[in-house]
Amino acid sequence: MNVHIELTDKCNALCSMCGRQYIKNGELKKVPTFDKNELSINQIHTIFNNRFFEKFNLNRINFCGNISDPLTCVDFCSIVEYLKPHCKRIDIATNGSLRTPKYYENLAKILQGVNHRVTFALDGLNNTHSYYRINTNFKKVIRNALAFIRAGGNARWQFIIFKHNKHQIDIAKRMSKKLGFNEFVSIRTQRFARDENWSFTYNNKHYNLEEPDEILSYEVAGDIDCKAKKDNEFFLDFEGNVHACCYLGGSYLRKRFDECKDTILEWYERDKNNALQNDLSDILLNSQFFKYLQKSWDIQPSLSCRKFCSKKNLRKKLYD
Ligand code: SF4
Ligand code: SF4
Repeated sequence: MNVHIELTDKCNALCSMCGRQYIKNGELKKVPTFDKNELSINQIHTIFNNRFFEKFNLNRINFCGNISDPLTCVDFCSIVEYLKPHCKRIDIATNGSLRTPKYYENLAKILQGVNHRVTFALDGLNNTHSYYRINTNFKKVIRNALAFIRAGGNARWQFIIFKHNKHQIDIAKRMSKKLGFNEFVSIRTQRFARDENWSFTYNNKHYNLEEPDEILSYEVAGDIDCKAKKDNEFFLDFEGNVHACCYLGGSYLRKRFDECKDTILEWYERDKNNALQNDLSDILLNSQFFKYLQKSWDIQPSLSCRKFCSKKNLRKKLYD
């Protein structure tokens, strides 16, 4: 199995299109309810216990998430050390602008001997990067990434393309090679579909985010081709809740804030799908919710399933 883990609900950054933020009356604001939770090493021991490893083999562990950065987790390095012998691959996605070069050097050492990749979010160069990734610092990310690379870590540069940075893709790509990143990816974000206008102010500065070129249509009709099922992956959130995937995990989060109309989540019972209150193996093998979810694809697929895994999702094809 593969697992995607969101260890915390914390982040140092203030990316304007992230679910951690919202725009009200033209101003960028932070959702006040976050920054309170994280899984500890003891809880990870409880969740990924011997019984789980007797029943399942873990292939890839992906430390990423919807609304947080994994490196905000106090026990992050201990958690990676604990899970490392139990999996074949570890992927980590970070904005790279928290912690120190020393921390990244240590992380590279911990990851030695296991297939791994750390993705650093670098959306442009020094003069453009923080236009989207507010509260992060290009030079600091580069310093941390360099420390990681020099200590033997496998690093990837991920560049989200906007109108304000698209002229820098080639320079960034050349720079990534020179600095020792093993991969460079430039991607478009689907988050433009959430709103019509991405013009706002923050700290008395005006921002206007625009698609790099033409606006693509967002077709959500069509049969479901479940990505989680194809990848044999589940999503564990920062409270220990087990979800079919990060998309439904994100919808569940918004549901709790009364901002999501995804009806499938009426069937989600937290008490029965929480891996701190129940055995993870039992949830994965017997969850009623997972059964309802699969049935729903033939009757009335949920909003999230149609949005993210519809075979006819044109935008997804073009953006991935
Ligand atoms: S770094 Fe990730 S979690 Fe943090 S604000 Fe940006 S998009 Fe959100
Ligand atoms: S959104 Fe639905 S169809 Fe897509 S991966 Fe998640 S559970 Fe599967």
